[in-house]
Amino acid sequence: MHSHSRRGFLARMMGAVWSGASLLERAALVAAQARAQSRAQLPTLFEIEKVADGIYAAVANGRALINCNAAIFENANDLLIVDAHSAPSAVYALVAQVRKEITQKPVRYVVATHLHGDHTQGLPAYRSMAPGASIIASARTRTMMAELGPARLKAAVDAVPGSIENLSRRRASAKTAEERAYFQEMIDQSRAFLEEMRNVPVELPDVTFDDHLTLHDKAHELHLSFRGRGHTAGDIVVYCPSKKVIASGDLLHSFFPTIGDGYPRDWPGTLRSIGELEFQKVIGGHGGVLESPARARQMRDYLEELLEIVARAKHDGVPLDRLQQTITPASLKTLQGGYGDYLAGEVKKHDFRVYLITQSEVMARGVRDNLSAVYRNYERA
Ligand SMILES: [Zn+2]
Repeated sequence: MHSHSRRGFLARMMGAVWSGASLLERAALVAAQARAQSRAQLPTLFEIEKVADGIYAAVANGRALINCNAAIFENANDLLIVDAHSAPSAVYALVAQVRKEITQKPVRYVVATHLHGDHTQGLPAYRSMAPGASIIASARTRTMMAELGPARLKAAVDAVPGSIENLSRRRASAKTAEERAYFQEMIDQSRAFLEEMRNVPVELPDVTFDDHLTLHDKAHELHLSFRGRGHTAGDIVVYCPSKKVIASGDLLHSFFPTIGDGYPRDWPGTLRSIGELEFQKVIGGHGGVLESPARARQMRDYLEELLEIVARAKHDGVPLDRLQQTITPASLKTLQGGYGDYLAGEVKKHDFRVYLITQSEVMARGVRDNLSAVYRNYERA
């Protein structure tokens, strides 16, 4: 990108109407923009790929603080973008990349698939960049963001100094130059995040719906829907029936599922409901584009196998630590035939935090985390 257009980019940001942000919050956003501009080049945080006519996936490159993917739907005169990453600077970088690689059309809708910070902490950037745009979520997600958002954001930022200390210790005892460089990069990215996120506010969605919302555009119809609980209590998907593409947030992606805030007993039914839609490709919240509708069934089968194992263990009074000793990637039927390798390979490729561990360690960790989350959340209703 040329420097004059970078200045233009910043001028456009600064000229935007500031609505609803305090002075301190404005200062934090201005600082984020200035930092993004002061770099020789905005960092390439995404790889943008065309998924169908007018639909693009921005697949997030690995970072110390993980960013979600964005799904970009190009309407006749404007854009709908799904999810907003872990920091405003990532949104500025994405929009600059969209301008360069896809279109100059303005952002009119931003969808937050769920409340998690790696999907919502960048929302203030959209609010200041495109003050007239609608930020859309399920009513459940908005309620959770209003109640839990500020505390969750504070916890996410407060955790970073401890993580930097840990990374510094590991850098000090690194065995190779590559390892040292890796830890240094993780530290630098964590520090930049910390610096940026002080005083960034939680930006709440301003358009909500309970179950369905249809956007009618000359280019295509977009169906937004809540199809049941899963990864959280409020996840929604965006479906384009004419182009047979779904953006699914963290309900369905190419990483191991994240079940910590989830409803494991509801999730398979929610995936079954998604499976009833007629689609060919899925832009998930993390990892590469899912190129086959079979991926929805594979993830459902995997969750159902974990549920069966946990149900039996609970019935027999088997504690989690004993269960962890017998359940491994090799013992799970649904991970055989390539699905386990696929998930672990995708994590390995797109998550910078696992840079130093092997694919089989990634798989073992995925199964261990999933099993314990299903066990802990099994009674959740
Ligand atoms: Zn999430």
